[in-house]
Parts: sequence; C-alpha cells; structure tokens
Amino acid sequence: MDMTHDLIVIGGGSGGVAGSRRAAVHGAKVAIIEADRFGGTCVIRGCVPKKLMMYAASFAHQFKDAEGFGWTDVRARFEMARWADAKKREIDRLEGVYDDMLVNGGVEPVRGRGRLVSAREVDVGGRRLAAPRILVATGGAPAADAFPGLAAAMTSNEVLDLREVPETLLVIGGGYIAVEFASILSALGSRVTLAYRDSHPLRGFDAELRGRLAKALRERGLTLACGVALERLERDDAGFALHRADGSVLRAAAALNATGRKPSTAGLGLAEVGVKLDARGAIVVDDDSRSSVPSIWAVGDVTDRVNLTPVAIAEARAFADTEFDKDPRRVDHRVVASAVFTDPPIGTVGLTEQQAALRGPVDIYAADFRPMKEAFFGGSQRTFMKLVVDGLDQRVLGVQMIGPDAPEIVQSLAVAVTCGARKADFDRTIAVHPTVAEEFMLMRTPVRRVPQATLS
Ligand code: NDP
Repeated sequence: MDMTHDLIVIGGGSGGVAGSRRAAVHGAKVAIIEADRFGGTCVIRGCVPKKLMMYAASFAHQFKDAEGFGWTDVRARFEMARWADAKKREIDRLEGVYDDMLVNGGVEPVRGRGRLVSAREVDVGGRRLAAPRILVATGGAPAADAFPGLAAAMTSNEVLDLREVPETLLVIGGGYIAVEFASILSALGSRVTLAYRDSHPLRGFDAELRGRLAKALRERGLTLACGVALERLERDDAGFALHRADGSVLRAAAALNATGRKPSTAGLGLAEVGVKLDARGAIVVDDDSRSSVPSIWAVGDVTDRVNLTPVAIAEARAFADTEFDKDPRRVDHRVVASAVFTDPPIGTVGLTEQQAALRGPVDIYAADFRPMKEAFFGGSQRTFMKLVVDGLDQRVLGVQMIGPDAPEIVQSLAVAVTCGARKADFDRTIAVHPTVAEEFMLMRTPVRRVPQATLS
C-alpha cells in the first residue's frame, strides 16, 4: 500500500488541530480531515461562544452594583441579536485563525467526512488517504436519550445561536452545561427553572461547593427543581412540559437538554477495522492513547476520559511527541484543574474533601467571607475557599473555590498542586494585598480534621 501521509487526523477540533500541528513540527507529512468547521466544539459551539455569552451576562449585575459605587442613571437593555451578530463575527475570525494555523504549520486540511476503510486507510468523499498512523479526534455531541422527548429541546449547540432571550426556560440536567447556561440566561433576563434529579447540582464536585452553588443560584432568582427523577419531556403549543417521577410537571416556553454528551464514533468505520469501543461508544485506549488497533490512536472526548479541551490538547501533543519526536510522554490525568462559569463561578483542582478522605485523614482549611467589593455596596454574595491537605504529610491535595475570579485564581494554584506543594509552602508565600486570592495564603488553622472514610 502506498502511503500518502505520515499521519492522518480525523477531526479538526482542539485535539486534532494540536496533534496535527505538533506532528508537522516534528517533520511529519500530515492531513487533517474535518466535516464541519475547523476549531471544533470548543471554538465553534462550546467553551469560546459560551464564555462570550457569560461576559454579556456578567454586565447585568455590574450595572446594578455600580450604583453602590456612586454611579447614577445606570440603565441598560440587552439585545441578544446584537450579541449574536458580534459572536458570529468573532467565531468566524477564530475559525480563520485555525485555518491559517494549519496551513502555516504545514498541515494539509481536507474537507469532508473521514471513514476508515482499513487500519491505515481513510476515505474522504471518494479520495483515499493512507498513513502508518491515524489519530481519531472526533470529540462528542449532545446526548438526547436519557429519557423520552429530549430530542425536541435545544442543546448547547442551539442555545448559543439564540437571537432572543426566552421568557421562561427549563434547563434539564445538573452538570457543567446545565448550570452554566441556567446562570447565564437567568442573568440575561430569562426566568429559569433548573431541573435535576440529585439534591445538588454538579455531581462529583466538592460537596460544600455544590451546596453553595445551589444557594447562590437561588439567591440570583433561579428556581431549582431537584431531588426528583425526570421521566419525559413533552412539547405543546405553550412550549415544554417536563414530567417528573412524583407526578409534578414543570413548564416553560423553551427547554435546554443538558443531560450529557456522548462520544462521536458512529459512521467512522471503527468497529469494522477492529477498534474496540466501550459501552458508551467511546474508543478504548491505553495510557499512550493507542486503541486496540496498533496503527490507530484517539484523543479527547471521543475517548471519554477527562472531557476537557486542555486535556485533549495535552493528549494529542503527547501522542505527537512520542511518535514523531521519539520523546515518549504520557498525560497525567490525576491533577486537572477545571472551572464552572456560573455566577458565582467555581474553580477546582485536585481532590475534593470527599475524594481525599477515601485515601487517608485530611486537614481542611477554609475561608468563608463577603469580599471587600461586595461588602462595600451591601451585596450578599459570599466567597468560599478551601484547601484539602493530606493529614499525614501535609501535601495540598486539592484547592476548591466558589466566588468571583475563582477560575483565574485556581488556575495559578494548579501549578502548586501539580508540583506537590505542602501547606507550609502556602504559609511562607507572601500575600498580594488587598486581593481575594491572598486568603489562600492566610489560612492558619484547620477548620476540621477528617478521618479516613470508607466508600459508602
Ligand atoms: P455532565 O455529564 O456534566 O452532566 C450531565 C447531567 O445530566 C448530570 O446532571 C446528570 O445527572 C444528568 N442526567 C443524565 N442522565 C439523566 C437522566 N436519565 N435523568 C436525569 N438527569 C440525567 O454533562 P454536560 O452535558 O453538562 O457536560 C458534558 C461535558 O462537557 C462534561 O463532561 C464537561 O467535561 C464538559 N464541559 C466542561 C465545561 C467547563 O469546563 N466549564 C463546560 C461545559 C461542558 P446525574 O449527575 O444525577 O447523573
């Protein structure tokens, strides 16, 4: 078989683009196949436009809070169509940046839908490409099969293209996507009901953050309909009706399905060439992101490991360095910082208190206060910060925060956690004053010592 390339990448999102460019830097001849727009979920219909919508929403409270700082006659009206037009221009610009990055990086962009025809060959609209290595980075897509009727609701794709704020909105689910859009659209003027089955949103996050987020969202005016299983969604002339297991029905003009995402593996010919998939349809890979077929690797959400853009990028670069630079590297998935862009936002890195306690005794340091800015104008929002410290060797195992700027603050502290800093290293760090972040350096005594827990 004649090889047309050294590497074929299927999927032009964050992982695919990063892997293809890094391989090209190492001298490989690379083709990258994309059926839609280069940039993928994160840039085109995910993190980036979501954050732009979050910025729009953040003004709602700033206008109000400004009065407490002496501003008068602050009046404003949000026009979603103007935001949507500006967002479209920015995403088009970023897509162009991605296209240029590929071409300038020596990668051949190929438009179309790629399908494996053997372990080393891919068909794209009748064109046959062949390479000794293939990287699958096709990401994921919203799932609509949690219960009947969900397919009629918007997903995170459509909500980002709204040109009007819905008067009432039912957000279904309690994960990242649900809480972020619930918070954003509420600030933009929608009356939002967030419906989820657990007692708090964000399963898997630190329990104190979950409780505080629920409280803060209620204080911002959202209705939290929780603790009851969800059974079916119906659409009628008035909008949507969500039927719950206790017989109650929640109604709204619009509905957003945020019940999770599933790996995009259908139609790629993976099973036909012997690539093993798990029960959710994700590609099973080893620590080097290699699939069950030795010439095929996979990175990012299509592998359903830690489904975050920077993780996909790290996995893709590790693959390229290992295979094309003979610099074997693996990604450590244990310490990954992440953020939830609600109001107030969450930043987290490392272990939650509950996870840490399963490994041994932990010391918990915490601060719960009304920041200077909030106190000045009489606001009620609080900030909560927490260090989860190993009770035996005093290593900082986790940093948890909910409050303004939490994602930015925790990103920086992620370096310390990754380096294995101990509590004494935080203590000897001189604070920047006056900041909110300095509280992490000023926690002197534990608020509690938690004994080792057992899995319940
Ligand atoms: P998540 O997996 O985070 O959340 C899915 C939600 O749907 C959960 O609350 C879950 O409830 C609920 N759910 C699932 N099945 C049912 C059911 N049968 N009945 C009722 N509720 C159900 O998915 P998201 O779609 O929110 O996010 C997908 C991925 O995108 C995440 O893994 C995240 O990594 C990424 N992402 C990251 C962001 C960030 O970094 N800021 C922002 C947005 C997305 P339960 O918990 O009870 O199972």
